[in-house]
Amino acid sequence: MKSPRPRFPLSAPGKAPKKGSLTTKQALLTLLFAMLISGVAGSIELLSHATNMRQETEQRITQQLAVVNGAAAEAAFQLNPDLAHQIAYGLFSDNEVAWVSIRDDFGRSLAEFDSPERADSTWLSQYLFGDILHHQTALAYYIGSDMPEAIVGEIELTLAEGYLTQQFLARIYTVVGVSILEAFILSMLVVAFFHLFITRPLLKVHAAITQTDPNRPGQWPKPALRGHQHDELGHLVDSLDHLLKAFQQGLEQRDQLHHLSNIDGLTGVANRRQFDEFYQHQWRLAQQMQQPLSVIFIDIDNFKEFNDHYGHTMGDDTLRAVAKALNQCIDPARDLFARYGGEEFVCVLPGQDHDDAINIANCLREAVLSLAIPHAFSSTHSDLTVSMGVASMSPGFFISAEALIEHADQHLYHAKRLGRNRVETRKRPA
Ligand code: GH3
Ligand code: MG
Ligand code: MG
Repeated sequence: MKSPRPRFPLSAPGKAPKKGSLTTKQALLTLLFAMLISGVAGSIELLSHATNMRQETEQRITQQLAVVNGAAAEAAFQLNPDLAHQIAYGLFSDNEVAWVSIRDDFGRSLAEFDSPERADSTWLSQYLFGDILHHQTALAYYIGSDMPEAIVGEIELTLAEGYLTQQFLARIYTVVGVSILEAFILSMLVVAFFHLFITRPLLKVHAAITQTDPNRPGQWPKPALRGHQHDELGHLVDSLDHLLKAFQQGLEQRDQLHHLSNIDGLTGVANRRQFDEFYQHQWRLAQQMQQPLSVIFIDIDNFKEFNDHYGHTMGDDTLRAVAKALNQCIDPARDLFARYGGEEFVCVLPGQDHDDAINIANCLREAVLSLAIPHAFSSTHSDLTVSMGVASMSPGFFISAEALIEHADQHLYHAKRLGRNRVETRKRPA
């Protein structure tokens, strides 16, 4: 009999994973983490840029004021508005300065420039540059070598908040843009690496499992993962290989046990268990398909005497020879011949009506006679003989499975009573 198929296929049919879905998840996750890291790193860089820019701006303005200090002092001392004008304009023409004023020591303005930029104040510009916007320097002048330095006026200026913030933002946009690009390239490289070294080999393993025949798991197309023989993926494939081979061994042992549990140990033909299973199945099938079904019960005549006189070993050999001869009268693709127990055998003949069954029964009887096994102690014949009871069920006359067997047994009993070495039946069992 065919061994049953395993209940669990090795992979769920029709549920192939979306190719690269792991890669997509990994790509999104890597990108997210890369963006987070680049965000943190960018913020630190941003703070450092702000500090540098403040220092640079302060230094530059202090230097510029130091450079013009002498000339501005001269202009203040001489009360020279033209010179003061030129110096103030020199400072003002730099976009960084929003307002500049040069005054004499009485506070009178010699030159002043103001720009509407001063209005461009935001919380960001105040936060970043609020405390370095205002500069005021006294103008010191040496009137003579023996005279002390005199304060002759002052320069006061205010830096353009808007301009400084713009400069800062321009730098930041570049920094942020470069960080995002870096993060993107890095994450794509990680994804490509992940796909090549992990996802693709895993997909190969999955494809191999999908192609595996559940009835022959040991013959699965073990994937060769180049470069992964000694890493976790290689170990995974090896473990799977061991598992599937063990599974295969288990199936083979199960088939062997199943076979052994259905075979009669002495004669090698089907045993009672296989007969019961086959008969019940064929009886249901005959009812469903509206087909005939016949059963023949066979019993060796005077076998007790045979055993008693020729010995048990000879009896066993004879049982084997009789079983072999009887088995040749049936069609193994359709019928079942089984040892029912002791020196009794049974044939189940699906699709065979009463006449077919009688023909087969005669064949069985003659097969045993043609063995010509001498039985000097038989009250029936000089050779070993068998008696048979035949019962058939036809489409218009169905009876229960148990009743059909009972009828065949009753007919066998009649065959014995009527002298043995014969086939007994009744077309319509009562
Ligand atoms: P009948 O013609 O009425 O069937 O007579 P019989 O002697 O064949 O029937 P009976 O039921 O009285 O005896 C059956 C004998 O079959 C008894 C037993 O010694 C023998 N037998 C049953 N199983 C085996 C077996 O496995 N090996 C051997 N050698 N003999 C067996
Ligand atoms: Mg018997
Ligand atoms: Mg007998």
